[in-house]
Amino acid sequence: MSIRHAAVALSAAACFSAMACSRPAESPRWPGGTLVDLSHEYSDQTVFWPTADPFKLEKVADGMTPQGYYYAANNFATSEHGGTHLDAPVHFAKGHWSVEQIPLDRLTGDAVVVDVTAASGRQPDYRAATGDFTAWEAANGQIGPGAIVLIRTGYSKLWPDAAKYLGTAERGQEAVAKLHFPGLHPDAAKWLAETRKVKAVGLDTASIDYGQSTLYESHRILYERDIPAFENLTNLDRLPARGAIVIALPMKIKGGSGAPLRAIAILR
Ligand SMILES: [Zn+2]
Repeated sequence: MSIRHAAVALSAAACFSAMACSRPAESPRWPGGTLVDLSHEYSDQTVFWPTADPFKLEKVADGMTPQGYYYAANNFATSEHGGTHLDAPVHFAKGHWSVEQIPLDRLTGDAVVVDVTAASGRQPDYRAATGDFTAWEAANGQIGPGAIVLIRTGYSKLWPDAAKYLGTAERGQEAVAKLHFPGLHPDAAKWLAETRKVKAVGLDTASIDYGQSTLYESHRILYERDIPAFENLTNLDRLPARGAIVIALPMKIKGGSGAPLRAIAILR
């Protein structure tokens, strides 16, 4: 062992014994900030689009084996667009990125959190408008190119009550016309894409277009410009207006139009 190695080993040993070396759990050594989970759990309670197959977990094993050790394993099945999930551009734009083709750079970056909770509370069919973003800019500075814009409607507090969160707990094609929840106005989607060059958009409702949408224009505007979306996020109330970093990594489904998404934020 060299002198340098010995010194490293000594300091590591000292850290094991000295309380001064340990940091409180809420201040992790890496990445140097508080971690916030932006994803809901997947279970039989998870909210899915009325026409999408829900999440299923099938127990394969859960118990002691003849060899004397414990073993657990499950099968799961899910549609792409349920729970906290990514929409890949190909979802509404033929020939554009599927899930595995989206560059990691599009899924990670500086978050801008725009709060439309008050308007969404008054009006379930509210659509975040360009004016909401320009008002945000007046208070916080311009939304920079490459920002990940997160729209906070406050709807995640209604999860997983589908009747409140989606506007209806009914399932099937007829239920789609009964959906009521806030989303992003197409004019604002175009403004964010073209004048602010954002790299991704996310929100805490089931769809980037509001519940009453029939043409899904915000989906089409964003995805034709290769801007993916994150839907059914949670804990946006824990993020500052700006300064958080988002890491939103979907299950890497080849050819997928969407995928379950584990998204986190790092508060520095
Ligand atoms: Zn989706």
